[in-house]
Amino acid sequence: MNGRTVRWPSLVIVAAIVAAMVALSFHPQGWAQQTPAGRVLVLKGATLIDGTGQPPVPNAVVVIEGDKVLAAGGAQTRYPADATVVELGGKFIIPGLVDSHVHYQKWLGELLLNQGVTTVISMQARDSYGAAYYRESQRAGNRVPRLYDPGDRLSISPSMTRDQVRAAVREWLQAGPEFAKAPIHNDEVRQQYQWMAEDVHGAGLAMIGHAENCRDSAEAGLDVLEHLWGCAVSLMTPEEVENFQKGEYLHWGLFLKEGGRMDSLIREIIQGGTVYINPTLLYEFGSQAKMAAEFEKATFDVYRDPALMTYYPENLADGLMSKFQTARSYSTKYGTQVRVSRLSEDERRRSQEAYRGAGTFVKRWVELGGKVIGGVDTPSIGTAGLAAHFEMAMLVESGLTPLQALQSFGVWGTEMITARRNPARQAPVGVLREGSYADLVVLTANPLQDIANTRTIERVMKGGEFVTLGYTASYASGPDRLVRTTPFILEPEISAIVPHRVTEGSPAFEMTVDGEGFLPDSVVLVDDVAVPTTFVDIRTLKAKIPASVVAQPIPDRFVLSTNPYQRVGVYGDRTLKITVLTGPPDGGTSNSVSLKVLAKWLEEEGGR
Ligand SMILES: [Zn+2]
Repeated sequence: MNGRTVRWPSLVIVAAIVAAMVALSFHPQGWAQQTPAGRVLVLKGATLIDGTGQPPVPNAVVVIEGDKVLAAGGAQTRYPADATVVELGGKFIIPGLVDSHVHYQKWLGELLLNQGVTTVISMQARDSYGAAYYRESQRAGNRVPRLYDPGDRLSISPSMTRDQVRAAVREWLQAGPEFAKAPIHNDEVRQQYQWMAEDVHGAGLAMIGHAENCRDSAEAGLDVLEHLWGCAVSLMTPEEVENFQKGEYLHWGLFLKEGGRMDSLIREIIQGGTVYINPTLLYEFGSQAKMAAEFEKATFDVYRDPALMTYYPENLADGLMSKFQTARSYSTKYGTQVRVSRLSEDERRRSQEAYRGAGTFVKRWVELGGKVIGGVDTPSIGTAGLAAHFEMAMLVESGLTPLQALQSFGVWGTEMITARRNPARQAPVGVLREGSYADLVVLTANPLQDIANTRTIERVMKGGEFVTLGYTASYASGPDRLVRTTPFILEPEISAIVPHRVTEGSPAFEMTVDGEGFLPDSVVLVDDVAVPTTFVDIRTLKAKIPASVVAQPIPDRFVLSTNPYQRVGVYGDRTLKITVLTGPPDGGTSNSVSLKVLAKWLEEEGGR
């Protein structure tokens, strides 16, 4: 990555004292005002943004008893005389953030809370953290955000009958799901998918899932469309879809063009009953955002915390940092991603255009009556917690108001749990009003003035208790498997090299390396030493092989030969190992293939 030469370990040591001082100065430790059972806590004087969409309330009073809000309103709001009062004049209170698309794992909890995310809608099956942990997450006083999850996986197959689908959903309901994470919709399971949707909806639950084609998936009963590419596909002609799959376009976002066709697609989907979209803008366009450099710096600052880095995977930190300088690419010219610095002027312009198209789609979606589900798909897409703030900033950059962005990471997100309940039900999170959980964030600056102010976090409360901010080294053990950024960089693979043999003493030459998964950063190695490499496309590299490496074949240990062409001490054919390396954080080294260096005297004897 550009200019980032300092490695984590040394950096962590250097930054340790600074980080500790920063933590102490910004986050008063041992904040004592909590609510013993039955005692009332009052937050007084801040501007309250309650998340319902109502205008902010200046000089507000938030009355908390136990883990719930007893009342929230203006200065006239009453509270008991013996209540503990915390003065928050000049501050801003927002509901604890709800990230509605997290692949939750235990080592993410502290990170999320520190960034004000007090509720997570987890896409994981519950057994990945366990039922006890899930239950405990609802309590105050632990360093775990509230979790809501789909219980278990729900799967269907093309051979299933109506009764079998019904039985599968009934069995899945035993796991106590809050919503369904739907399998992929395609032509083969079209019928089964519709039956599943009927039964899931019948049980009062909504379905979230990937949409390979937004129109088709929505029609089949998907309530929340994850990601935007399926909506671009809905706007492509069959021929364009085919070319897109062949890798002929830089980005699908180029198909999201403002105008009548986009609007009618949105209207059609929303009128059909699918009103929620989870755009995951950071996923695709993090490096294209106006604030990309600022995001990168904020991310860097989080990863400077030595306590966090005792359990947070270093490769993931590196990968998530580099994403802010990496553009997503769908063309075979670059593969899955490419350094922004390598894009041509025209490609940079088109990457921006793709981002603008996606943003316009999101803006029109809301203008035409839809809602945005704020979820970032962490940990592989961004730094859990922090990424929610970046996504909000990108939503505002796309044309949503700051209040709408906050609602995306609040009440709109929780509608995934409540929208299809019968009887209707309100989520106890995402808003601050009578009866909701006292989950909130105290900010030092107004987020409605500048959405970036959601990061001016002074205090976080979950269930009526202030969370001690900062990281603890003993918090969790890291993931047991390698966590890669998404999309991750593939390990390269060589299928052939041309030429694959060369005569001893040849001049320098160019070698073509064919294979798969090459990136502009891939390098060809000869016996583990890098040689100058030119990236042609994801299937082709050209390497300059210097004369020195083919200057001689295998030295003759026995000095057997008397051949006049053979230099003293040089015997027979030599094999050079050719590999391709794609650098960290992912990538890796390819298989190795052999370049044979033919001994001149053997060659001239005509044996080959
Ligand atoms: Zn996901």
